[in-house]
Amino acid sequence: MRGGEGRASTGDILNLVREAGPTSRTNLARLAGVAVSTVSLRVDRLIADGLVEEVGDGASTGGRRPRLLRVSSTGSVVLAVDLGSRHARLGVMDLSKRPLAVTTEPVLLEEGPDVVLGQICTHLDRLMEPLGRCTVRGIGIAVPGPVDPSSGRIVSPSRMPGWHDLAVGDELSARFGAPAVVDNDANLLALGEFQARRLRDGVRHLIAVKVGRGIGCGVIASGSLHYGAIGAAGDITHVDISGSGGPESRPCSCGKRGCLETVASGAALLEDLAAAGHPASGLPELVERVRGGDTLANIAVRVAGGRLGEVLAVVVNFFNPEVLVLGGILSEAGPLVAAVRAAIYERCLPMASQSVDIGVATLGADATLVGAAARILGRLTGAGAP
Ligand SMILES: [Zn+2]
Repeated sequence: MRGGEGRASTGDILNLVREAGPTSRTNLARLAGVAVSTVSLRVDRLIADGLVEEVGDGASTGGRRPRLLRVSSTGSVVLAVDLGSRHARLGVMDLSKRPLAVTTEPVLLEEGPDVVLGQICTHLDRLMEPLGRCTVRGIGIAVPGPVDPSSGRIVSPSRMPGWHDLAVGDELSARFGAPAVVDNDANLLALGEFQARRLRDGVRHLIAVKVGRGIGCGVIASGSLHYGAIGAAGDITHVDISGSGGPESRPCSCGKRGCLETVASGAALLEDLAAAGHPASGLPELVERVRGGDTLANIAVRVAGGRLGEVLAVVVNFFNPEVLVLGGILSEAGPLVAAVRAAIYERCLPMASQSVDIGVATLGADATLVGAAARILGRLTGAGAP
């Protein structure tokens, strides 16, 4: 809900139909705090767009029995793509943003867009096959790099050589004949978790941190994704972290030394383990080692969590969120999450730290897919980024 406006946008009404449906226009008006005539206008558009359908009649309160509304169940889907450096998680989602089918497939971003996008299209086709005839209404795509929010183009991604200035959305849009929207993966993680928590917990201010090979951060401020002036809000990975920028320190993917990424990202941890003579094949193996009690792996993720927590303590003090969500594969390493939490409690003012709920994504690995679905549904209903 946006402050003072009520849930008045078409996207907001679609969300309410999803959350409260099957329900009547009158009930939607009550929930949204707007006039029934306003709701009816929005509903008419949603029905015309095939996003909402009428089903049966509700209980009469004296007059004509009201027609009930629910999210369309006529085979309309949105596709959600969560592109990582080594894996892509792909989902076919219904219009309620629930996953109908999900898969994780290996990809290598460094093989370039032609190869990777071809693989993604093939996997999405396979994923839809068992579902019968589906109408793809839109595609939401999360990428592990900066995205210009106005053009949807990827901007100088340090972990995606060969993808600069590419309009990934246009390619998938042409392939599936539906509109597409592209956003940074941490932004869509934030949006997905916000969708899950806003009604249940009334959350309006949320920070989401994706900890994988890199580190990303998405911000929900007053119920909306916050992009900043050029879409760079939340970029904490290149924050200069005290005491880690000496001449012997590791250079960052941005060219500087001393960035958070060089001491707390998955890529840095893998390099550290290799340098210590205990290389891991990737982050899944690192997480397994942590769970198995491997001392070196446990120390590595604990130190990384502490450094990440140092930076996040500043963010929490500055932004005063209600929720700080950790996602990405390294959020599955318990000691890392515990170290982040400890660093924040140690460094934050009690006023800020006592009111923030710090934990892992409640939607697990699907959080970013839900955010991608929400983002494209927001675009389809004219709500922009919800
Ligand atoms: Zn850097």
